[in-house]
Amino acid sequence: MCAQLLHEVEKEVTSLLSDLIRINTTNPPGNETVAAQFLAETLAKDGLKCEVIESSSARGNVITRIKGTIEKPNLTLLSHLDVVPAVEKEWSVNPFSGTTKDGFVWGRGALDMKSFVAIEALVMKLLVRNGVKPKGDIIFAATADEERGGNAGVGWLIKNHPEKIRADYVINEGGGESFPIDGKHIFTVQTAEKGVNWLRIKAKGSPGHGSIPGIADNAVLRMAEVARKLGSYRSEIMLVNSVRQFLKGVAEETTTLGNLLNTILDNPAIADNILDEMAKKEKTIAELLRAMLRMTIAPTMIKGGIKENVIPSESEGVFDCRILPGQTKDDLLDEIKTVLADVDFNKLSFEFIQSDAPSESRSDTPLYKTIEKTLKEFEPNCSVVPYMVTGGTDSRFLRNVGSVCYGFHPLKTDMPLDEFWKLVHGIDERISIKNLVFGVSVLYRIVEEFMT
Ligand SMILES: [Zn+2]
Repeated sequence: MCAQLLHEVEKEVTSLLSDLIRINTTNPPGNETVAAQFLAETLAKDGLKCEVIESSSARGNVITRIKGTIEKPNLTLLSHLDVVPAVEKEWSVNPFSGTTKDGFVWGRGALDMKSFVAIEALVMKLLVRNGVKPKGDIIFAATADEERGGNAGVGWLIKNHPEKIRADYVINEGGGESFPIDGKHIFTVQTAEKGVNWLRIKAKGSPGHGSIPGIADNAVLRMAEVARKLGSYRSEIMLVNSVRQFLKGVAEETTTLGNLLNTILDNPAIADNILDEMAKKEKTIAELLRAMLRMTIAPTMIKGGIKENVIPSESEGVFDCRILPGQTKDDLLDEIKTVLADVDFNKLSFEFIQSDAPSESRSDTPLYKTIEKTLKEFEPNCSVVPYMVTGGTDSRFLRNVGSVCYGFHPLKTDMPLDEFWKLVHGIDERISIKNLVFGVSVLYRIVEEFMT
């Protein structure tokens, strides 16, 4: 028998999400305190005493805790309050209206991640209402600044008040959505993240008159060469644990993809040939897989030149580099220097703008087992696979201090995958009300089961 969905929370979770969307927390500047205070008031209605802690003026984080009867294990339900900007004229609704129509809640943050803020808040409320007595503490933390690196949110909390949010286990965003393949749902649990490294490269040359190009040394040409080489470079393929398990899990469940993925698992060196073929039909999936198999280097900004008729003596480029668990920024730099070996090296300089290490949590834990078991109760035909995201979330801060973190916002993908992915940080972001109910139901059951 399937587990029962908690239909009774539909109105409450829907209106909580709409209210949160209406509080504009576009980052920059963030202004999360208003949302943090609103949540504190909402949670207080069920007797949950909250602290709103600001890292600086208007950058609020809201935290509350249900005390456990013994010490362990404890669990943090983590989320972020800020959202990325939205350009209203591109949308079919006002992105900060929290409108509900066609069975969806619309607005910036509907997926990333005010929906999960609302789901986690509802789970806390239900735990109190149902008088659940957990073994360890259950902590709720909705934080600032994730969309700009988290240094005014979780990064700041870990530095200044680690005891307030640290736990043995953390459930956060960054996974949990399903891949609907062959009529089945394959749910992901994010166990790993690549490390985000933004590298600035400066190229030098010597200036001259634009009418006699031969006498100058054009730095823009040098930078163009750097960008071309790095942009088209394919680093060596490396199967990290989470990705190996992901590919295995998906291969077991699908006939269409299965053979291709098994070939990649058996012989990673030929993965690109397979993915090139796959990309002709399924470009998004093929390129996502490719980015999971290696470090990537993407030129994202180039500037240079001061005037129409002056050959530029300086040019700089920014490269968004994503490294795999097990790789360091020094590995990255070594590799970049090898790729650029024949670009006049004395005329290049390298500087990291931001550098975050990759992170990974094990999947052989009691919490992972509870997640798997619970999903099968709700969706008997589903399977559950570890997953690595190519981006980064706040989980890395907590993995750094020893927490097992899972990206797990349970969501049954109910539109074509391509379309779904475009909504996150995109236009007409929305989540179905069905998925809000599904999210609360699954997460509540996991927390109750795991913590009692
Ligand atoms: Zn997010």
